[in-house]
Amino acid sequence: MRIDNSLVAAFEAQLAQASRILIGTHLNPDGDALGSALGLAEFLEQRGKHVEVLCHHSAPRNLKWLPNVDRVQQEPSGEGYDLGIIVDLDSIERLGNVGPYFETLPTLTVIDHHVPHQAPGDVRIIDVTAAATALILTHLVQQMGGTLTASMSTCFYTGIVTDTGSFRFRNTSPDALSTSAILLENGADLETASQRIFQSKQLSSARLLGHALETMKLDMDERLAWSCLSFRDFEWAKATDEDTEGFVNELLSIDTVQVAAILREAKPGKIRVSIRSRAGFDVAAVAREFGGGGHKNAAGCTFETDLTDAEVQIVEGMRRCLASS
Ligand code: AMP
Ligand code: MN
Ligand code: MN
Repeated sequence: MRIDNSLVAAFEAQLAQASRILIGTHLNPDGDALGSALGLAEFLEQRGKHVEVLCHHSAPRNLKWLPNVDRVQQEPSGEGYDLGIIVDLDSIERLGNVGPYFETLPTLTVIDHHVPHQAPGDVRIIDVTAAATALILTHLVQQMGGTLTASMSTCFYTGIVTDTGSFRFRNTSPDALSTSAILLENGADLETASQRIFQSKQLSSARLLGHALETMKLDMDERLAWSCLSFRDFEWAKATDEDTEGFVNELLSIDTVQVAAILREAKPGKIRVSIRSRAGFDVAAVAREFGGGGHKNAAGCTFETDLTDAEVQIVEGMRRCLASS
């Protein structure tokens, strides 16, 4: 992959005008969100910029080891920023509480790989075919002549390994693999990333997963699977929403299942839904019906209703998706 030279030039022009930069990423940050934000922050510091990284939430447990993760803040430390860069998201809303800090900046760059829906930003470096935002950023750093340090390589590698599900999902392109090889050559810490992201499940998470599998529901000749986790389930397992990372993939790993969802009420009155699908089924379209978004095979949305109501709506959407594809 090569980023269009005119886009790189437009980004360079923005940087030339900027000395104080805010980087933002989406709430409930994943490895691509934080890896991209932290790796980019280091690159911009190589360029002599003052950079702050903002996120609505602090790093989840499985990402607390990321190099420089302590620099993730919930608000800017001062004033007078001249450029905002948001990574791994395509709407100001997904910034949560840090959104307003970006709305008032003179210029905004978006670097992302989601299907655009709101399309904010003066410069937009978007590639929906890229496996991860971190993959786009690795190319950007290379094309701009930056140095990939070991800590930047670890951050970007984390983004790629997270969003490809350890190089198993369909978005795992030759570019994702060859770029990961370059990141490893530059010192990416594969072992810590693998251990901390994929091999450090907490007991509470294992218990809740057991419950989710036991209470799983199936429909449409077992091609549709879903499970609901109520606030009481979370209390029983002493679990948090973070502990449900990856659950939906367990449902999708069942051989008959083509579309799967996990609905979770980690906090009363707010239902977060993760939807996943196999090849031909577009679940981003389902999520968009309910104000969410994402990728064709991995999407999500949020309901502010009760769990049963959210279940009825999302299952109806998934049925339509299965029936129409
Ligand atoms: P998740 O199921 O939380 O891992 O999210 C899967 C994909 O859907 C990610 O690319 C998210 O960016 C996207 N997504 C999840 N929840 C929402 C939401 N409420 N609104 C928009 N996109 C979402
Ligand atoms: Mn993400
Ligand atoms: Mn991503």
